[in-house]
Amino acid sequence: MLRLLCVTAHPDDEAGGFGGTLMHYAKLGVETFVLCLTAGHAATHRGGAKSDDELKQIRRREFADACRALKVHNAEVLDYPDGKLDRQDFHATVADLTRRVREIRPQVIMTFGGEGAITAHPDHSMVSIFATMAFHWAGRTNRFTDQLEAGLQPHITQKLYHSTTLFTMPDRQPVSQAPATAILELGQEGIDAKVSAFRCHTSQAPLFGFFEETVRRRGNKEIFHLAATSAPRKIQVESDLFEGVQE
Ligand SMILES: [Zn+2]
Repeated sequence: MLRLLCVTAHPDDEAGGFGGTLMHYAKLGVETFVLCLTAGHAATHRGGAKSDDELKQIRRREFADACRALKVHNAEVLDYPDGKLDRQDFHATVADLTRRVREIRPQVIMTFGGEGAITAHPDHSMVSIFATMAFHWAGRTNRFTDQLEAGLQPHITQKLYHSTTLFTMPDRQPVSQAPATAILELGQEGIDAKVSAFRCHTSQAPLFGFFEETVRRRGNKEIFHLAATSAPRKIQVESDLFEGVQE
């Protein structure tokens, strides 16, 4: 069984950053997983919620709806504090994600780049760092050995991708992104599915117009950077994240 794990920061990242790719691989029979570290309760747009707890509940529901629309097999929102991922304990957070990698045992992980994607959100940057270290350490027998003593096995994920784009937003502060090494052509249908999954996040409705305009400008693509691979190789441009992966 092929498995794809996507690690994000906020409900709506799964659709906005990775939705077309999640849908694409689910349709090909890959088992897809999304781990979202926060419930997004620090959002500017609050969908009428009267408290952080109410917004958390709303956004967890919206996340579940979006993941269902994207045919994600296993979708989970964790309970890290939104907007504060840079103040979390590094060791404990990487241990948590490493345990989940050892349990899920994906061949491919995708997450943000260290720049924090085109919005440069610090939570996105921290998710990149935590997930990247979980990718590297899940396979090592000398990292988080308590998990191994408790019965988990080390797991070497074969490929790690960071999302990237081929454009910048001129009205925002500049971000420096990783070069594109994998370009997924998702077709009109794939991009329409991504836009409609994003629209499940109704608390974020004020962003819909801007989001759709930005997505359509990208063409029918999602773009990634191969950040690490278990089989050493030269860089090449891929059209499939599972290229060369052994089941
Ligand atoms: Zn986000």
